[in-house]
Amino acid sequence: MPVYTSSRILIERFPHRADLMAAILDVCRCNAVTTGVFSVIGAVTRATVGFYDQTGRSYSTLVFDEPAEILSCTGNISALDGAPFVHAHIVLGYADGSVRGGHLMDGTILFAGEFHCTTLDGTPPSRAFDDVTGLKLWKL
Ligand code: ZN
Repeated sequence: MPVYTSSRILIERFPHRADLMAAILDVCRCNAVTTGVFSVIGAVTRATVGFYDQTGRSYSTLVFDEPAEILSCTGNISALDGAPFVHAHIVLGYADGSVRGGHLMDGTILFAGEFHCTTLDGTPPSRAFDDVTGLKLWKL
């Protein structure tokens, strides 16, 4: 099991109407973050999430085209094919108190977003295809 230390904690306020996945990747690129764990709270005007069909081994995409609170969005940054890769899940709260969520995908548009990231020092874990799950998991 790899062990990391942390020497930086980044916080950022994401721009209004930014795509959440792109905003996270932008912060990583601008700050040379290759490994880290993060959270985001705020609100979205629309969300696009995935649900992984464990039998069919593919993601279905769900689009929620209405405002919601980001109750929780957590994820990690590692490497896929040598490039920074963001994996995140999001839980959204709606006006009627209902909750939806899933695997964060492109197309989640921020109303407001506050990002908090603990960067990890060292070689980022790389992802590789896993035969058992059909996912690109950490190769540890
Ligand atoms: Zn996921």
